Parts: sequence; structure tokens; C-alpha cells
Amino acid sequence: MPELPEVETIRRQLADAVGGRSICRVRVLDPLLVAPESPSRFRRAVEGRQVASLGRRGKYLLIRLDSGDTLAMHLRMTGRLHHTPSGPAPDDAHRRARFTFDDGSTLDFSDTRRFGRAWIVPADHPDPEGYWRARAGVEPLDRAFTPALLGALLAGRSAPIKASILDQRIIAGVGNIYADEALFQAGIHPTRPAGSLGAGEVAALRGAIRDRLRAGIRSGGASIDRYRDTIGTAGTMQDMLRVHRHEGDPCPRCGATVVKTRVAQRGTYFCPTCQPVD
Ligand SMILES: [Zn+2]
Repeated sequence: MPELPEVETIRRQLADAVGGRSICRVRVLDPLLVAPESPSRFRRAVEGRQVASLGRRGKYLLIRLDSGDTLAMHLRMTGRLHHTPSGPAPDDAHRRARFTFDDGSTLDFSDTRRFGRAWIVPADHPDPEGYWRARAGVEPLDRAFTPALLGALLAGRSAPIKASILDQRIIAGVGNIYADEALFQAGIHPTRPAGSLGAGEVAALRGAIRDRLRAGIRSGGASIDRYRDTIGTAGTMQDMLRVHRHEGDPCPRCGATVVKTRVAQRGTYFCPTCQPVD
């Protein structure tokens, strides 16, 4: 699933490619993509509008339109956005929608498993801040994400630390890949109760989350499963993962065998030596 670094990579590419462009035409090929909105109402909100700016909240891509509406997208498991500067876009049997811009370029939303969504947050929404706060907690790359704030967010929680950092309402944008990598870097066992971390561990975890997310952005994301950027290029972060999907491999730090378990219903990889239970 695309996480913060993958969505941020897409945001930056689209800001260059379609920022300031007008959306001339919208074709919704799969009504499920915009449900419960009707494709025709969705189209009316988007067609003819100019892209004012590209934003992101956690794993949500926000295309802000000159009407004040926000076209929000979530790629979920297998969603992809492909921008074709001009000429015919590559054939894609999984295309769900196409946006055509005033320079003739196109943006295709494709999705094999069809969990991805696109919808409008209207300009006259009574509480847009609250709307996003309910879906996305603190942005881990923001200055506000201090060790003190993370400590306060985790205090009193008995849930495993991995489940807590995967909870999008606590920290926005960290998913399974970067959670495993950050916990390894910080030397914290994924099943430790979140509230049991000491101040030093909290500070190490906060630093590791930011470091791994930044590494992900620098390398254009992790192309595990189906992720590609908007021009179809794979990222390289998957080559730099130390424990995630490395079950049975030697730990790059101590040489012990990386093991796999399940935490919060997610396949979880860690080094039992570098990340002791207590
Ligand atoms: Zn180790």
C-alpha cells in the first residue's frame, strides 16, 4: 500500500505536471471509485476547474481546485496515478477514471483491487479541519511532531507500539513498511505496549520514523506490490529495507535471523536481538 513517502512522491510530481492546469474533461469508468457520489455530480464538480495546488494529509492526496473544492484521493492497496504528458496513454485494463487537462495531458487512476477512492470535500464544508483531523493525526514530518508530542500520544496506551503508529488518527501516513523499518532502527520490539516506552525510546522512535520516511521520499518510494510513480517508474526504497520482507535473512546490524510475526493483523518483521521484548 502506498504510504506517506509514496503519496508525497506523487504529490510533488503532480504539482509540477498539472499545477495551474485546467481539467477539461473527466471520465469515470468505474462508478465505485467515486461512490456514494454519482459520476455525473463528481464530473460537474471537477470539469472546467483549475488545479490551484497539490496537498497531502497522511496518505490522502488533495487536489485543491480554484472553486475552493478539494478533490481528495486515496490509493488504498493497489491504486495508481499515471500522468501522460501528451499522446495516447498506455493501455490499462484497470483504469477507473481519466482526467484530461488543457495541455492535452491525461491523468489516469487505475486500481486492480478497486479499494481506491476519489471524492470531493466541498468548499462550503462546515469544518474541513475537523474532517481531516478525524482521518489523519499529526504529520510526522511537521515541526509539531516533537518527542514530547509523541510521548503524549502514546502515554497510557496498552496496544502494541506497532498498532499505535499504524493508527492513522494518531500519526498520519505511516504504514506497514515504514513502521517495521522505524521500529527496527529505534531498537523497539513491535509488540511492546505503546505506553511502556521510556522517554529515550520515544525520542529514538520519533527520529527513526522521520528518518525512514525521508529516506522513502528521497528514493521515490518503495515499489512493493503495485506502486509506481506518476510516470510509471518504480521507487528504490524496497532495496534499502532492513527487516521488512526479510524473514530468514541475517539482521544487517547483528547478523541474527529476522523473524516474521503478526501484529495488528499485519505481517511484521523484526530482529529479536536488536529489538528485545523488554
Ligand atoms: Zn539485529
